Amino acid sequence: MIKMKKQDEELIAQHPWLLDVSGPLLAWYDRQARILPWREQNTPYRVWVSEIMLQQTRVEAALPYFERFMQALPTIKDLADADPQLLLKLWEGLGYYNRVRNLQAAARAVVEKWDGNLPDQYDQLVSLPGIGDYTAGAIASIAYNRPIPAVDGNVLRVLSRLLASRADVTQPSVKKEMRSLAQAMIPSERAGDFNQALMELGAMVCLPNGAPRCDQCPVYHLCRGSQQGIAHELPVKPPKKQRRSIDLTVFILICEGNVLLRQRPKKGLLAGLWEFPHVEGWITAEEASRWVNQWGGKVLDNHALPKAQHIFSHLEWHMTAYKMLCTSFPAPKGYIWADRSQLSGQIALPSAFRAYSKHLPEWL
Ligand code: SF4
Repeated sequence: MIKMKKQDEELIAQHPWLLDVSGPLLAWYDRQARILPWREQNTPYRVWVSEIMLQQTRVEAALPYFERFMQALPTIKDLADADPQLLLKLWEGLGYYNRVRNLQAAARAVVEKWDGNLPDQYDQLVSLPGIGDYTAGAIASIAYNRPIPAVDGNVLRVLSRLLASRADVTQPSVKKEMRSLAQAMIPSERAGDFNQALMELGAMVCLPNGAPRCDQCPVYHLCRGSQQGIAHELPVKPPKKQRRSIDLTVFILICEGNVLLRQRPKKGLLAGLWEFPHVEGWITAEEASRWVNQWGGKVLDNHALPKAQHIFSHLEWHMTAYKMLCTSFPAPKGYIWADRSQLSGQIALPSAFRAYSKHLPEWL
């Protein structure tokens, strides 16, 4: 075990049985862990990219992106030097695009300060853009076997249930306490495996939304939440805020084999990405044609597309759309007429528009 700070020692002394978790948990992990490319080759760069991708994204969805990313940019230096449009293209559909912008900013810092080698020290890792407490712990422990906890939502859920704790896990003081306990539980010889095992238990067995599979759990005999019959009620979180809802009308405007796109503002939601033009509110086909007239074009054919919605963490877009063939006109400022090669190789369209990008003609 690792040398602990005094307050961590006092905390773990209140729950000494937590120190028995690592044995059966690691034995289970050795038998059951999913084979994943960033586990097979756990270089610091691969662990880092995988951890950033897995924020807000399921493992199955991230897998093809990870392979493609590593093939295109096999080193931190390649990432630092990459064309930002290529990066967005590699991230297209994963959402939360600031993640990849921060990855590049951090890669540039790593090249400048540490000659392209990701540091193994927690303080240095958290100084990099996009790397917070959890990601620093994950990189330091998984890639360098440093005894630093990596406490994400999965780990908070497992610990709350093991402890039968009804404390609100969104509170910083509660997170801090859980982090101290996780720190105390780490066996020094297998820090990275232990952190991954806790996360894996949360992802595969100690499932969220009231559905733990306690009959398959390697630490069932140690779990206070399960023994008290309250595991499914944990962890405690405050009710989620309601999302704001916006109605939009999207224009799929096609002229001479090109589609009209515009770039979003440099800050805010989907910053800097290209998108189909749209206006707020649901408008009629005639009103949509009038928009095109204002830009200098004339609609030759107008076809209403089915409604679609996209849900962001804090916002819902409820969309309707028109696919319009129109006469040629110069792209307004901030817009472009994109052709097939730009769409397939350079321009990243956010997944919010996936329902409509599939209506682009096949020649595009
Ligand atoms: S026994 Fe059930 S609630 Fe407890 S850690 Fe295991 S899966 Fe989670």
